[in-house]
Amino acid sequence: MTPTRPIPRWEAPTPQDVGQTVEDFLVKLGEPTFVWLPGLDATRTRAVSTLLHGNEPSGVRAIHRWIREGQQPQVNVLCFIGAIRAALTEPLFSHRCAPEGKDLNRCFRSPFEGPEGIMAQAMLQELQHAQPEALIDLHNTSGRSPAYGVSTLNRDIQERLTGIFCDHLVVTDLRLGTLMEATEYDWPTVTIEAGGANDPRADELAFRGFTRYVLAKDFSDFSSPVTVVQHPIRVELQKDATVAYSHAPVPGVDLTLPPDVDRLNFGLWSRQETLGWVGTRGLDVLWTKNAMGQNLNSAFFAVQDGELRLAHPSRLMMVTTNAEIAKSDCLFYILPDS
Ligand SMILES: [Zn+2]
Repeated sequence: MTPTRPIPRWEAPTPQDVGQTVEDFLVKLGEPTFVWLPGLDATRTRAVSTLLHGNEPSGVRAIHRWIREGQQPQVNVLCFIGAIRAALTEPLFSHRCAPEGKDLNRCFRSPFEGPEGIMAQAMLQELQHAQPEALIDLHNTSGRSPAYGVSTLNRDIQERLTGIFCDHLVVTDLRLGTLMEATEYDWPTVTIEAGGANDPRADELAFRGFTRYVLAKDFSDFSSPVTVVQHPIRVELQKDATVAYSHAPVPGVDLTLPPDVDRLNFGLWSRQETLGWVGTRGLDVLWTKNAMGQNLNSAFFAVQDGELRLAHPSRLMMVTTNAEIAKSDCLFYILPDS
């Protein structure tokens, strides 16, 4: 096993310690750090992770605001704040990973290699030591979206944890090397996508959810109904394919999507609507991936005169309008209509 360097830990920061702005806070942290907030009940601990992606600020803003307000949580809270260098790379909160870095939230599985893999392993070791009651991993979507939870297990507790923040839970059987996959059987773990990265409503939702999560005596109070959606299909671009965002097909580009393709996140797309336009390579530029890694392009899409459409009415989620994320991660997910 690779020897891991312990992650710095900041014990009980005061409102003055963390600085006035979230940027001050990040500069003071400097590198991935655990922040420990002692609870009224010091025998129990809950965990929060955030900023695994440097362009997703709602979670770290919530933690900063909570500390600034000088409240004390019900139980100890162990907060992990991840991709600080990526977040601080100018312009602030615009880089998913540090320059030349890997996506931290794809590194939570063996082999724990490279700086991000070693960091992920060290973080998991610290969580094992803390044995939290639950773990919430706070993210934002890169496009506009309502908030939703994601989990790998569909049990009552995952629904309750989601209900603290929002009212939709996506249960996924896709395995990507994310944090929640690494801890799903150790303690209840839910990823919360708080909404679009630049949407003040997402910041507010993350803060309110964080507050409820850390103030709750236990999770039995949270029984608001949550809609569960199962098994999203991941749609990636093939490695060598090009993408552009424009209101009309861009000549020479393999896939053009309208710049407002994120307008219908979680909304239903009919078979008649144009999702975008494919070039001369047609559907071969996509990889429509189920949990077995099979390519299901022709089962989910149809092309008519270069127009890309869905083969069946479906909901889309996590639709990005950022070409870099579209290329390095994925274009969107399809929620098959059951
Ligand atoms: Zn993320």
